[in-house]
Formats: sequence, structure tokens, C-alpha cells
Amino acid sequence: MKKKNVVDNTIHFLVHNSFLFTVVTMCLVHLVLLGLSWMSGVMQMVYINTVSVTVYMLCILLCRFGHIMPVYISIIAEVSTYAVLSVLLIGWRCAPSGFLLSIVPIIIYFGCFLLKGWKRVFIALLLAYDFALFIALYFLFAKGEPAFVINEMYVHAFYIFTNFVMVFSVIFYNVIYIYSNEVELTNLEKQNVKLTADASKDALTGLLNRRGFLPLVNGYMNGKKQHHFCIAFFDIDNFKRINDSFGHDCGDEVLKHISKLVAREMHGCDICRWGGEEFVILMKDYDFEVAKHKMEYIRKFVESTPTIFYNKRIPATITIGLEERKEKYQDPEEIIKVADERMYYGKQHGKNIVIFADMIE
Ligand code: GH3
Ligand code: MG
Ligand code: MG
Repeated sequence: MKKKNVVDNTIHFLVHNSFLFTVVTMCLVHLVLLGLSWMSGVMQMVYINTVSVTVYMLCILLCRFGHIMPVYISIIAEVSTYAVLSVLLIGWRCAPSGFLLSIVPIIIYFGCFLLKGWKRVFIALLLAYDFALFIALYFLFAKGEPAFVINEMYVHAFYIFTNFVMVFSVIFYNVIYIYSNEVELTNLEKQNVKLTADASKDALTGLLNRRGFLPLVNGYMNGKKQHHFCIAFFDIDNFKRINDSFGHDCGDEVLKHISKLVAREMHGCDICRWGGEEFVILMKDYDFEVAKHKMEYIRKFVESTPTIFYNKRIPATITIGLEERKEKYQDPEEIIKVADERMYYGKQHGKNIVIFADMIE
């Protein structure tokens, strides 16, 4: 687990610093080439590599300040110049033109970051230029004699090192490309889960909204796992008066407070903010008698637990309509409508009451 984290963190670091990592690596590559040139006794190659190291040191600075485009152009210009000069000086067999191939992933990776839309045509043009230069060097100098004939051992050293850089470049840019894709995918999945959760919840109270709630009721009514259940519909009494007397913010606090009380007391039940100051409770596997007592308890509990708003006690009561699942109900809205009608009856008959039977005259 720990090892995986180290690998993940390292790749994460490299992905986020890939431009800087590229120029630092190019700088190190030219330091190695400088060493090889010095050992093989070609001083002109030592000077060329010193210039290349200086170019990449400047590129490191540019990267630190976020100027990626000049860095991109410098890399392509430096590699092209280096390839031509070193083929002339030490010959095709040392494979310096291989650097033209090792910058192919860099041209694509940096290019896609810097150029969007139709401008990506320039990436194709740069790739064509890079390959054309490679072919041109082959036809012009592959069979010719270089300016300096170096010791065979150094020819091998140059050849192996250049090819190592080429393979490393292909592996590195593939790994960071795959990794950044995976990271993006994971982030999208997380966002998707969050958006789905947000879409089924009420922002103020954190309770379910209709969109999240109705499929649950439907599942217990018509799904594979059918359950007996009771539905309570409740509405805060004289809520408009609370808003008018203490302000809308206070009204919001009362909504949150009552939601929290009910959610705590009805733990395990699904609770929905149906709209405004109206709520619906789904009591799965509740016997009707138990649900009646529970709702009476909730009514009294809300009545005796006022909201505290800026040190003021804001009392509130609720009116509840209750119904249980019956065969005749085919649709969640039907049973909720009956509970709502009972609640409405309670409103007309004094409020702060639980109604659990049809009493509508
Ligand atoms: P009743 O006892 O008959 O239910 O009367 P009431 O005043 O509670 O009902 P009415 O339908 O007259 O008023 C409900 C008020 O709830 C009106 C509306 O402005 C307010 N309201 C709806 N949603 C919110 C909200 O999210 N926050 C606040 N603060 N008020 C809200
Ligand atoms: Mg109301
Ligand atoms: Mg209402």
C-alpha cells in the first residue's frame, strides 16, 4: 500500500512538473554528452554541448516562470541544430540523429498542451519537419566521413546512450499520458457520484428531494423487494408568520432545525423535503399503530423543542397526515396524496395534530 503511494506520488509529481522535468533531463543528457565528447577528444562537441546545457538552464528558468512556448521552440531548435552539427562532426554511426526521434513525444505532448483546435496542424508540421530532417541527414551524411573519426569504444557509447534516451522518452511520455488520463477519469467518476447525490438532495436541509425520494417509495411498492410501509406528510404550521415576524433567514433556520430533529428521531427512515415547509416520511416495515405513536411523539417533540435563532426561541408546530400502504395504491403519489389530504384536514381543524384516518366530511 505504502509502495503504491510512493509510485503514485512520484508519477503525480512528474505529471504536474512534466515540462520542468523534460528540460532538466535534457540538460542532464547534454552534460553526459559533454563528458563523452571530452573523453573522446572532440573539443568542438564539448563547446556545442556547453551551449546546449546553457540553453536548457535558461529553459529551466523559463519553465519556472510558466513560459512554455519559448521552451518548446528552444527544444526543437536545439535538437535540430545539435543533430546536424554532431552528424557532421562525429558521424551518423554515433546516432546523434536519434535525438530527432526522441523528441517526437515531446513535440506531441508539449504541442497538445500549448496548441488547441486547428492550431494543432502546427504539431503535424513540426513532426513532418523533424522526420524530414532525419531522412535528409541520412541521405546526405550516413555514408560520408565525419570531420573527426573517434575511438570505436566512444562510437558505441554515443550510440547506446542516444538510443537509451530515445527509449526513455517514449516510455516516460506514454506513462504520464496514461496516468493523466486515469487521474482525469477518476476525477470525473467522483464528480459524477457527487452530482448524482446532489441532484437527489435538498440543498438547505440535506434531506432527500422528490427526485431522490419517489424512486425509493416506488421500489417498496412495485420493485422486487416489496415492503409494508407508512407515509407521513407533515407541514409546519403558520410558517409564513415566522418568516414575516423574524425574517426569511430565521425561517430557513426553523426548516433546518425541524429537519434535523425529525431525521434524528426517525433514524433509518427516508425523509423528503417535499417542497417549501412540507415534508414526507417513509417508514419502512412500520406497523400502522407504531407509526401513529411515533408521529404523535414527533409532533410533541417538535412543539417542545423551539429553534434558537440569535438567542431567541422560535417555537413551531407541525400538522401530520398519516397513511399506510394498501393494495389499492399503485403509485407513490396516490398514497402521498391521501396523507397530504389528512394533513390538510388537520390544518382545518386546529393544526398541531396527527390525522390518521379519513375524517373528511
Ligand atoms: P399553514 O399553517 O396553513 O401551513 O400556514 P403557513 O403559513 O405555514 O403556509 P403558507 O403556505 O401560507 O406559507 C408557507 C410559506 O413558506 C410561504 C413561503 O414563503 C415560505 N417558504 C417556502 N419555502 C421556504 C424556504 O425555503 N425558506 C423560507 N424561509 N420560507 C419558505
Ligand atoms: Mg405551513
Ligand atoms: Mg404548506
